[in-house]
Amino acid sequence: MTIKTKKVYYCDFCNKHSLRPLIEHEKRCTMNINRICGMCGAFNQLPIIIEKLQSKIKIKHYDDAKEFEYYAIDLNDILAELEEDCPACILSIIRLLSANGKLIECQEFNYEKAKEEWWKLHNEEQDENYEMEFYYHDIDR
Ligand SMILES: [Zn+2]
Ligand SMILES: [Zn+2]
Repeated sequence: MTIKTKKVYYCDFCNKHSLRPLIEHEKRCTMNINRICGMCGAFNQLPIIIEKLQSKIKIKHYDDAKEFEYYAIDLNDILAELEEDCPACILSIIRLLSANGKLIECQEFNYEKAKEEWWKLHNEEQDENYEMEFYYHDIDR
């Protein structure tokens, strides 16, 4: 029998762990308030946004016997703070707002769907840019 001890790397912000260093993950981790967004490239914007949005969080009650309490935020309140409707930034804001013990819901937001739409749009933009470059190259010659 062979026993091997391996190093496991843990993200300082979320639950992710891996046998490989998570340096790149940590930079973009949606639980890192100082993240650089891997989708839209935004950085340095979250601390101010999170502070602003604290006041927009609404307390909601279920009319259960237990009267379970939860919190919600409007997607429009989040979007008003962002320059781009970036799904990763929206997800990050919801997760960071939830981090201090509150469970925040944003019912209008579906991350998987929003991500798919974002990449569809941005891949098309990328293709157009590529074609443009190609075109100008031809003129130069
Ligand atoms: Zn992480
Ligand atoms: Zn982003």
